[in-house]
Amino acid sequence: MKSSEAAQFYFSRAADQLELKESMRRRLIIPRREIQVQVSFETDKGEVATYVGYRVQHNNARGPMKGGFRYHPQVDLDEIRSLAALMTLKTAVVNIPYGGAKGGIAVDPRTLSRTEKERITRKFIDQIHDVIGPDIDIPAPDMGTDAETMAWIMSQYNKYHGFNPGVVTGKPVEYYGIPGREEATGRGVGILTLKVLGRLGRKPQQSRVAIQGFGNVGSHAAKYLADAECKVVAVSDVSGAYYRAEGLDVMSAIRYSNQNKNSLAGYKEAEKIPGDQLLELDVDVLIPAALGGVINESNVDRIKAPIIIEAANEPVRPEADEILAKKGTLLLPDILANAGGVTVSYFEWAQNRQFYHWNLDRVRQELERVMSQAFESVWNLSRERKVSLRTAAFMVGIERVAKATALIGVA
Ligand code: NAD
Repeated sequence: MKSSEAAQFYFSRAADQLELKESMRRRLIIPRREIQVQVSFETDKGEVATYVGYRVQHNNARGPMKGGFRYHPQVDLDEIRSLAALMTLKTAVVNIPYGGAKGGIAVDPRTLSRTEKERITRKFIDQIHDVIGPDIDIPAPDMGTDAETMAWIMSQYNKYHGFNPGVVTGKPVEYYGIPGREEATGRGVGILTLKVLGRLGRKPQQSRVAIQGFGNVGSHAAKYLADAECKVVAVSDVSGAYYRAEGLDVMSAIRYSNQNKNSLAGYKEAEKIPGDQLLELDVDVLIPAALGGVINESNVDRIKAPIIIEAANEPVRPEADEILAKKGTLLLPDILANAGGVTVSYFEWAQNRQFYHWNLDRVRQELERVMSQAFESVWNLSRERKVSLRTAAFMVGIERVAKATALIGVA
């Protein structure tokens, strides 16, 4: 199943539950606009390099469209289309006034110098500045892009349209960003993991957690859960997985990775195990926080964790999702679990437009409030309708977007 087929599969399952009309299904599935552009720039050697850039603007019924820009060699239109649709539902599930979009360039950022990355970013904005904007479509960081990339986007957009800090979120705190944006996705994952444990009557102190991916999302989720006294027994990154039955010292692993070019390679305070084995550990909670499609038909039978929190986007393939559901695994879906980042992006955008700053405590407090409300609505609907949390989350999202779409009409 292709990425967009997977999103449509979940969409249809929830739309059936809602008895959504065929005409509305088509309006919600077909993206408003798909943009594909040539991005040519001058390399450090003075040569011309050319790549393909994409932006899919899926839906704006509930507000300006919102979603990340990723730089990754495997970026393609199908994946961007599916992630854009998921953004529409994600912003609706957490009930922030946005639609959904996604974009990126099919380039390996590791092959670019910092100056090349700046030039390719500015050229990309030259191509699409007319179709983004604080009231239209607001990009954010994603794989291969970061706060600095967002600063370049704002600066380039401003050359055409004047001062507009709200055109992009995830900016550096020193340059119209907001404290707490960097930790937001991982923190949101942590907040909701504790909620799930609470609902199941499990104590954090007795909960063993394994986290795949130790980047932005994985490391912040690990820190939050360790602070809450969960036992984070394993974490992994591209270098492999690191296991300690009594629980890792998460802060020491974070410090090690920070001082080692964001890699755990050589970390000695845990046993090194093969990367894939982390997913199959006998733990209470498994948090895939790296790549899409890591739990699939080939390994689902060996997944033992009774609780899975989807911190990454689309880490579980639909084929595996069905098998896990039959096994009784409780799965918190990506469109809810990792919505903390876009939620704090919304706070950043709102404050850019008001020229008003919140401090870190306020950001954390508001994040907790938004995530908790979204969790309650999804959890309760799941219990009421006897559907999975994924179907319930899709139902909450689809219903909100469909209502707004119907109110707009087609005139
Ligand atoms: P990141 O680049 O900061 O970190 C990714 C981590 O995954 C790194 O530690 C990397 O070494 C590791 N990794 C890569 N391949 C791996 C493999 N095969 N096995 C184990 N680890 C591997 O990225 P991030 O921002 O933390 O994003 C992680 C996931 O969360 C992505 O799917 C992203 O789309 C999703 N997400 C991120 C945000 C956000 O705000 N950053 C928001 C929503 C969703």
